[in-house]
Formats: sequence, C-alpha cells, structure tokens
Amino acid sequence: MQGAKVFHIMANLSDKNEFNVAGKYYVDSQCIGCALCTQTAEECFALSDTGCAFVQKQPSGDAEDAKCVEAMESCPVQAIGNDGE
Ligand code: SF4
Repeated sequence: MQGAKVFHIMANLSDKNEFNVAGKYYVDSQCIGCALCTQTAEECFALSDTGCAFVQKQPSGDAEDAKCVEAMESCPVQAIGNDGE
C-alpha cells in the first residue's frame, strides 16, 4: 500500500473567505453556516448575508482567544483556522 489515506479536513489559509478581517483567525470556504462559532465566540465570529461565517474581530485578551480556540475545535467541518500571525 502506498501513502496514507488522509481524511482529516483542515481549514485552508489559501481558501480563506473574503469577509474575514485581517489577523490570525479566519474561516475558509468549507463553512456550512451552522452558526456554532457565532454562539461560542460571538464577539469574534459573525454570519455574512451569504450564510458563511467570518471573523469580524480578532480576539483581544486571553478570554476571547480561548473562545476562538473552542470555536475552532468545535466547528463540525473544521473551517476555522489559525495561521498564528
Ligand atoms: S462553526 Fe464552522 S461551519 Fe459552523 S458557522 Fe462556524 S465556521 Fe461555519
């Protein structure tokens, strides 16, 4: 057997959607608009008119950052990324 089967879906920085503000967290085009992140970290995530979530504000402080991490880990399609910058 050659290679490994890769089923893990990860957010893709090059697929980042157009609505995100600049910064480390982003939502990519895999978002299915379930609104979970907007409930988990409502300060930072919002839904666009097209039903796609985006980062409306990067977190300020540890509490907001922790919510963003929770949102990222809870996203059912792993559409939230953190590029570390
Ligand atoms: S949790 Fe994931 S799929 Fe749901 S709205 Fe947020 S980014 Fe989109």
